[in-house]
Amino acid sequence: MAQIKVNDLQKAFGDFVAVKGSTFTVEDGEFFVMLGPSGCGKTTTLRMIAGLELPTGGAIQLGGEDVTLKRAAQRDIAFVFQLFALYPHMNVRENIGFPLKCQNMPKAEIRRRVEEAARILRITDLLSCSVSGLSSGDRQRVALGRAIVRKPMAFMMDEPLGALDAEFRELMCNELRALHDRLQATTVYVTHDQLEAMAMADKIAVMNHGVIEQLGTPQEIYDRPATMFVADFIGSPPMNFLNFTQALKRGDRTTRLDGISVDVPEIHEDMSERAFTLGVRPEAVRIVSEGGLRGQVFGSEYLGTNQIVIVNTDHGRVKARIGSEQRVPDGGTVGLAFRPEKLSIFDKQSGRAVR
Ligand code: ATP
Repeated sequence: MAQIKVNDLQKAFGDFVAVKGSTFTVEDGEFFVMLGPSGCGKTTTLRMIAGLELPTGGAIQLGGEDVTLKRAAQRDIAFVFQLFALYPHMNVRENIGFPLKCQNMPKAEIRRRVEEAARILRITDLLSCSVSGLSSGDRQRVALGRAIVRKPMAFMMDEPLGALDAEFRELMCNELRALHDRLQATTVYVTHDQLEAMAMADKIAVMNHGVIEQLGTPQEIYDRPATMFVADFIGSPPMNFLNFTQALKRGDRTTRLDGISVDVPEIHEDMSERAFTLGVRPEAVRIVSEGGLRGQVFGSEYLGTNQIVIVNTDHGRVKARIGSEQRVPDGGTVGLAFRPEKLSIFDKQSGRAVR
């Protein structure tokens, strides 16, 4: 297996720049997820790493070797697509073994490797079955089997679970992660689904409009979003944004919002009267009867162990995730209190976190 180093990678299709200079490293054995909305450049990045698309700028190293201009066949990377086309006239065993047959590997070795892959994926009893009668989950396992028999240096996976229904998706998500823990294979995985990314990734690159907005562990990205885009894209419901105009001084630990004192993370630079956005996750909001930022309850959504309460304030709408036992009257006036260590502050104009 191998480390992947991507340096200032770019891809233009005519005048349109799909990837605008990405730099990141996927460590040996890491499960690296590229996350972002449709059209942000995830697939194009993955295809460049795999050698299916030539970059228009930058460089790619695989296991210390510069592969930027090498063809896909010279890269020892396995690619798993969403709708993996299995060969309908071959059974499961033949489908899995096909890449090895193409390499003219001895039959006994093919047999050993196919059976090993089938054991790992728990499809040994399906080996002599035709692929046409398989469930979508089993088809996906066969597709994975075909990727892992080759023992490549790295795996590229492009929304491999995208075609599955929700229930299977969750199951396969767990299986994929377990498979990764077992094989410790360097993996780059593309998805637009934040829950899938959070559940599986060692590290996430959040992309938007061809740019990596943030690179980090799932927890870093959730707790300390670098931009308002990341804060809004991750989390369900996403982070609340409250607008205010305020002068902040270096060392400040509190600011005033609508006459209410709000503890903020320590400010590291002087900022004169500017528009800021305070970001707070729904679970870091408490609803209090006295004090706090006042607002009117707009409605609530019961979720069993907790509830989402929606409160309109002069600074914006806030969703609070609180225990379902707390009674909050519809239409009533309440106060909102925030856990200071969970607050983010963004420059409203640039959308970047100022701490
Ligand atoms: P999706 O999940 O929808 O595939 P993505 O983040 O993977 O989204 P890409 O497939 O990488 O996005 O596409 C990024 C942008 O580049 C899109 O606007 C797409 O239309 C454009 N694009 C991709 N391939 C080509 C191509 N061969 N020619 C022209 N434009 C392209």
